[in-house]
Amino acid sequence: MNNRKDAMHCVSLTLHEAHALLQNKQASSVELTTAVFEQIEKIEDKVRAYITLTKEEALDQAREADKKIKAGNAGSLTGVPIAIKDNMCTKGTLTTCASKILYNYIPPYNATVVDKLKAAGAVIIGKTNMDEFAMGSSTENSAMHVTHNPCDLKCVPGGSSGGSAAAVAADECFAALGSDTGGSIRQPASFCGVVGLKPTYGRVSRYGLVAFASSLDQIGPLTKDVTDSAIMLNAISGYDSQDSTSVNIETPDFKKALINDVKGLKIGIIKEVLGKGIDESVKKSIKEAVKIFEKLGAKVFEVSMPTYEYAVATYYIIAPSEASSNLSRYDGVKYGLRTEGGVTSPRLHKKDLMSMYFKTRQEGFGPEVKRRIMIGTYTLSAGYYDAFYLKALKARTLMKQDFDKAFSKVDVLISPTAPSVAFKIGEKVSDPLSMYISDIATIPVNLAGLPAISIPCGMDGNLPVGLQIIGKAFDEAAILRAAYSFEQNTEWHRKRPKT
Ligand code: GLN
Repeated sequence: MNNRKDAMHCVSLTLHEAHALLQNKQASSVELTTAVFEQIEKIEDKVRAYITLTKEEALDQAREADKKIKAGNAGSLTGVPIAIKDNMCTKGTLTTCASKILYNYIPPYNATVVDKLKAAGAVIIGKTNMDEFAMGSSTENSAMHVTHNPCDLKCVPGGSSGGSAAAVAADECFAALGSDTGGSIRQPASFCGVVGLKPTYGRVSRYGLVAFASSLDQIGPLTKDVTDSAIMLNAISGYDSQDSTSVNIETPDFKKALINDVKGLKIGIIKEVLGKGIDESVKKSIKEAVKIFEKLGAKVFEVSMPTYEYAVATYYIIAPSEASSNLSRYDGVKYGLRTEGGVTSPRLHKKDLMSMYFKTRQEGFGPEVKRRIMIGTYTLSAGYYDAFYLKALKARTLMKQDFDKAFSKVDVLISPTAPSVAFKIGEKVSDPLSMYISDIATIPVNLAGLPAISIPCGMDGNLPVGLQIIGKAFDEAAILRAAYSFEQNTEWHRKRPKT
């Protein structure tokens, strides 16, 4: 790079543009990484996207990357600064899940996705903020701090991968990883005006992802455009024998799906998420997106998903049930926080092991996590198991069947990603139900294990609107193609306001 102006400019590039810059030797990875840290220094006190920054390690990795580029050995991500949500294990680097209970946890191993990013040459610059244990839709449930939406600092960035979405939107990295259990990649992508992809369940290894609800969790990328999404998906996909739910099928080259052509593509628009409870500005943007697809030659049909109305209720039984079991491992013995001593209830009259367990969990978990553990313990308890958990599993099957039926007629489904644009910080914290409802359009996709992407498709004032495109299992190619075509024929991905 020739001067500081170039450095400031380069942080706003997409991942693939930054990669080309490195390949053409117009900038080095050390310069790119330094520019990203300068950007972080400039705006991070306003955005607060990160929990941990690893500048020294990043610069070491950048120097290595520069050597590889010089030797002509570069991979698809060599030298590009990338951020990781703080619920993915990073060897030697703090991994807190934004929880007090893991405030000091330093994993002895990398999550598979982290190893894969490193193998592709990425420079890991830090760990991003999130709702504690990925439970939430605004990143306000973080035990660390609140993250602000770079498009409007008074608003939430969405959640739970709000730190990753904000970091990408604020040019504090070129791409980031998030995790999505009920919408946590797509909804923050929608709120921050970036692209968020949740792959098919089983496409990306969950090994080293701190478990929230194991049958729903999936890792995916948050990026500045659809091309970057395909590049990141290429890097992180693939079978992993260390994750028993990872599926052993071939990983296609997702870049080949970046085709600007939807002629004849059959698109189903989901009726149930275009009615009551969805903001007018969102509906308007989605309707305009439909017109664009039609103009490009796609055939758009209205599709009904009768079970959609049960999705949020079903999710809030299944996810807490799994969470209550997954989170039983945090007891002050194996990881993180240990609170000793003190009488916490009449039953705990001495400083014994049980009182240490109780005190640790009482002090270590935040209110939303406790609420989920209580709900999950209740729904799994003898006597209520059949009425709640088993019933929810049956409803989940019906939802999957709704999708199967829809996909017998269409290639992809579309809907808004979220019922509204980003809301104000503090607006929903005291009303968990209204927070839960903000995932109404994303949750069914996790329950059915399908892939879906959120792309910018409009604005309400300064705030972006997201369009969700859902595909058949393992057909990420179809959603990438539809998303790419939309992006190539619109300007929304460039309209995100700058912090
Ligand atoms: N907002 C949803 C929840 O609170 C989904 C979170 C997620 O996808 N991790 O559970």
